[in-house]
This record gives sequence, C-alpha cells and structure tokens, in this order.
Amino acid sequence: MIIDLKEQTEQAYEVQKQFKSTCDVCGKETEDVVVCCSSFGPFSIAVCKDCLEQGKECYSDMVSYIACAGHFPKDINEVYQREVRRQLTLHGISEEQFIADVEKEVDEYRSYYG
Ligand SMILES: [Zn+2]
Repeated sequence: MIIDLKEQTEQAYEVQKQFKSTCDVCGKETEDVVVCCSSFGPFSIAVCKDCLEQGKECYSDMVSYIACAGHFPKDINEVYQREVRRQLTLHGISEEQFIADVEKEVDEYRSYYG
C-alpha cells in the first residue's frame, strides 16, 4: 500500500488543531503553534503564529547560544550582533541586560569545566 502523504499530513494537522500548545517564545497557549528550526542554532522551537511572523526567538535560547560562542558583542560576528539587537527590540530587553545574562551563562559554563 502506498502512503498518501498529503492525506496523512492533513489528518495530522486536524489532530494537532484539537490541542493547544504553548509557544516557547511568548508562553501563549494556542492552537496556532508549529515546531520549526531556530535561526540561532541546530535546535527546534515551538512557536505561535504571532512570534513566527515576527521571526521572534526564545530569549533564554538566544542567551545560551551566544554564551557558547563567547562574550557579547566582542566575540560575535556582525550578522549575529544585528540579529541579537533585533531580537532585543522585539523582547523589549536592553543590551546591558542581555550582556549581563550572557556573562552569567558564560560563568555557569566555565563552572562545568573547572
Ligand atoms: Zn509566541
């Protein structure tokens, strides 16, 4: 038997619509949540339609991702600096707060390795 992918996808979508899911970015519980790739790294996030349309990312994931690369902004290339600043505007968070959050995460990572 050949599987009809279109029919299967439509059935899966109908099932999914019956359930509300929580957006990883804003925390809203809605039927309009999809799972997609983060633009910050090789991981997936559940995101609502509003956040998806803005390209808004999960703040704590962004802090972790940047902290893995180093200190902001000196260790981060211009492309990511621009995207971080765009995200900070979307989240209404100051760059100073972001830098403090990244430094805290960098210190935590260092504690893992002695
Ligand atoms: Zn959202």
